[in-house]
Amino acid sequence: MFKFLSGAPLHNPTASKTAETEVKTTTCYMCACRCGIRAHLRDGEVKYIDGNPDHPINKGVICAKGSAGIMKQNSPARLMQPLLRKPGSERGAGEFEPISWERAFDLLTQRLGHLRATDPKKFALFTGRDQMQALTGLFARQFGTPNYAAHGGFCSVNMAAGMIYTVGGSFWEFGGPDLERAKLFVMIGTAEDHHSNPMKIALGQFKRAGGRFISINPVRTGYSAIADEWIPIRPGTDGALFMALLHELIGTDLIDRPFLQRYTNAPQLVVLDEGEREGLFAFDPAAGPPGDGRHPHNKLAWDLTRGGPVAAYPQGLEEDCSLALEGHYTLPDGTRVAPSFQLLRERVADTTPEWAEGITGIPAARIRELARELGETALNQAFELPIPWTDAWGKKHATTQGRPVAFHAMRGLAAHSNGFQTVRALAILMSVLGTIDAPGGFRHKAPYPRHIVPNYRAFNDPDLVQPNTPLNAAPLGFPASPEELAVHPDGTPLRIDHAFSWEHPLSAHGMMHNVITNATRGDPYPIDTLLIFMANMAWNSTMNTMGVRDMLNQKDDSGEYKIPFLVVCDAFQSEMVAFADLVLPDTTYLERHDVMSMLDRPISEFEGPVDSVRVPVVPPSGQCKPFQEVLIELASRLKFPAFTREDGGRKFKDYPDFVVNYQAQPGVGFLMGWRGKDGQDHLRGEPNPNQWEMYAKNNCVFQYHLPADQQYMRNWNQPYLDFAKEKGWRQRNDPVQLALYSDTLQSFRLAAQGKTRGRQPPERLRARVEKYFDPLPFWYPPLEDACTDTEAFPLAAITQRPMAMYHSWDSQNDWLRQIHSHNYLHVNPITASAAGIADGGWCWVESQWGRLRCMVRYSEAVEPHTVWTWNAIGKASGAWQLAPGADESRKGFLLNHLITEELPDGNGRISNSDPITGQAGWYDVRVRIRPAEAAEPAETLPRAATVHTVAAR
Ligand code: SF4
Repeated sequence: MFKFLSGAPLHNPTASKTAETEVKTTTCYMCACRCGIRAHLRDGEVKYIDGNPDHPINKGVICAKGSAGIMKQNSPARLMQPLLRKPGSERGAGEFEPISWERAFDLLTQRLGHLRATDPKKFALFTGRDQMQALTGLFARQFGTPNYAAHGGFCSVNMAAGMIYTVGGSFWEFGGPDLERAKLFVMIGTAEDHHSNPMKIALGQFKRAGGRFISINPVRTGYSAIADEWIPIRPGTDGALFMALLHELIGTDLIDRPFLQRYTNAPQLVVLDEGEREGLFAFDPAAGPPGDGRHPHNKLAWDLTRGGPVAAYPQGLEEDCSLALEGHYTLPDGTRVAPSFQLLRERVADTTPEWAEGITGIPAARIRELARELGETALNQAFELPIPWTDAWGKKHATTQGRPVAFHAMRGLAAHSNGFQTVRALAILMSVLGTIDAPGGFRHKAPYPRHIVPNYRAFNDPDLVQPNTPLNAAPLGFPASPEELAVHPDGTPLRIDHAFSWEHPLSAHGMMHNVITNATRGDPYPIDTLLIFMANMAWNSTMNTMGVRDMLNQKDDSGEYKIPFLVVCDAFQSEMVAFADLVLPDTTYLERHDVMSMLDRPISEFEGPVDSVRVPVVPPSGQCKPFQEVLIELASRLKFPAFTREDGGRKFKDYPDFVVNYQAQPGVGFLMGWRGKDGQDHLRGEPNPNQWEMYAKNNCVFQYHLPADQQYMRNWNQPYLDFAKEKGWRQRNDPVQLALYSDTLQSFRLAAQGKTRGRQPPERLRARVEKYFDPLPFWYPPLEDACTDTEAFPLAAITQRPMAMYHSWDSQNDWLRQIHSHNYLHVNPITASAAGIADGGWCWVESQWGRLRCMVRYSEAVEPHTVWTWNAIGKASGAWQLAPGADESRKGFLLNHLITEELPDGNGRISNSDPITGQAGWYDVRVRIRPAEAAEPAETLPRAATVHTVAAR
């Protein structure tokens, strides 16, 4: 064991070897990219970590974080034993007494057992960047509480939902740019670390092959450093750029018309007459009920050859048909209709490059030129791969059409309150170019594409929250209509975070950022126990950081905390730990079993599904226990049905046993490789008792290569759709038409307009739902602008994750702290000097919600209307076992102090989030800067009180 602070060198390269080196493979978790690694051990200790050259994701490449995992393992900030807040001490003081695991389990079993038997919704489970939501979601569902979510709501749910509701898949784990075949690559709003090593490898190959790389971002850092061109853009305005590009592409007819006619809902006829069908797709009554988001069938198109309506879906385009994309028509019953593409054309008629220039700051001529580049590359440099395939309507295609324009986007688009419609606009831009699952364009990764809308509704029936009863559906899902919202008959939210309510109807990942505020307020009801796993809600994972820290300590009139029992499970002493009543010490990723499952977030590649595992390379330190084991133990003690045998005994010995033997449906488990009793089956098959060993022997990864004719056009590729259904990835095998026009969004709008007979929003939310649930994309300013004096606060303020650290995880890592121990506010020299602030000088940054003091660095790699900094470098003094006075707390700062978690809403307040998905509007804040006085101390403000040391190694 290393002796920290002893003065002894950590590593002596001249020391003689004491033992042979042993090499074990596992999967990295220094960020969420999940590269394959090799841990080199001597005398049972990890001495070196490198990339696994035989791993399909990173092919041996490793980054600074990955190789520094050794210092995470040996960090002085590790939590080593369960801790209980000392009687009489206050939350936040960090005064704990060590307890045994048996006592911790007894406490939890008793408390949670009582809640489950009386009022299960009083238990809330919210997890951070965990990679086992299939397990944590199952735990909540079996407990019977709807109050569950992971980090997605404050991360990038807009990116996931905006794309999935439009093309059936999204970026990163769900899909990505085919840089092997693209000729033009546009990266927009992407932080450095998403899909980090794979993206770096692909970008290197792309550039060497002569590809052209354009980066559109307010800041030129990371990947953008090797871009052929950087186009600066103002934060929150990307949607306006996409609308202008659509204006140009449609206006100049640089679009893939055959693709739009056959594979999208562009030709489907939308009802124009006022009434309850207004804005929905016309249908043929003789062919059954009208289609909707959940059952997208029975739609009509206008055949120009016949001069009348024809069935558009699911029958598809007849060979002799010429489906209209433009025009207005009248059906035989007199209903006025138009193809949805006509409505899109009308929508973008006024979104000219000149209009977008005033919003984005990008010159109109450059927008026009970019549109031409995109269109001409997609259409004029198109190519065909000699891969025959069969579409969902039985048509055999001799080749596969390539469209060599690829995009990549992430949180820069998503983390705005206009992000969902922005991402919809991007997905539609990619669709009109014909790039969806096409060679050289955007490609899906299994189990995507999903249906539009995915066949997973979220739990939504208040009457079915019952004592000792699992929910009849998972807590998270994808609503397809107002009838699927999680609300009471009066429209009030069912969930503590207000997800799936009229406030944020399509909040597919939940709204973790609302939990503490709502629970403190008892809105819509008080809860009893909040279990937080691996989320630093008392610091960088929360808006209004100081306010939320106060809330965690608020008491009611009887002296009871408003959130009566707070359980925190983490591997390290984050700022959140000090507020816990009970602390559960998690292991590191090198000490446990983990799965990157097809039931959750696998590491699939374009060519086919891939899942992987972690296996322990060293035993748990101290009394650390993997959170997965904690959940399996609690589920067994609480006798959840899925975890209990018929004779009342526990079903699963431990987490590895659970992974091998649990089946979500017959033959479908957490791992898809080496199934069947002898390990001969893949993807689907009986449980295999030796499955872990087989993964361990095979670099901890299983990769399945789809045949070439199932690797493209998977929204409509019948053999692939059949295969995906057979393997349990989909419930149906019908095609997934791209939703340029969203009748799902329109169904919410009609409800808000009072035109339908079903559920309707409360009066205070009618106008909001009507405005934002537009079936066509549109750009609107971030919601915060409406309550901000933008002349007084003229600058946008944003953060990025540094390439060398993952959120707050690495401030306890000795090697990575040498790269970042404090942060600056990066400001364009024009902006900084106009404000009278010197390079390296101290300044005040003020929003209408708060202010902070920090140091400035001049940077020409940021557009003049934006200031930015690294996320989560600043720390509370003493947290993460950092010495009081460490750079992180003295010179580092957190931009979160300037952000509000709620905005004014009439007479009340509402979450500072996207009104459709509930995505946190992290990047919407507006600020101003001014120099600090010369006499002021050279230290950042605000500062939190020093946290007590809770655990030493
Ligand atoms: S990119 Fe992420 S997963 Fe890959 S080596 Fe680096 S830290 Fe590990």
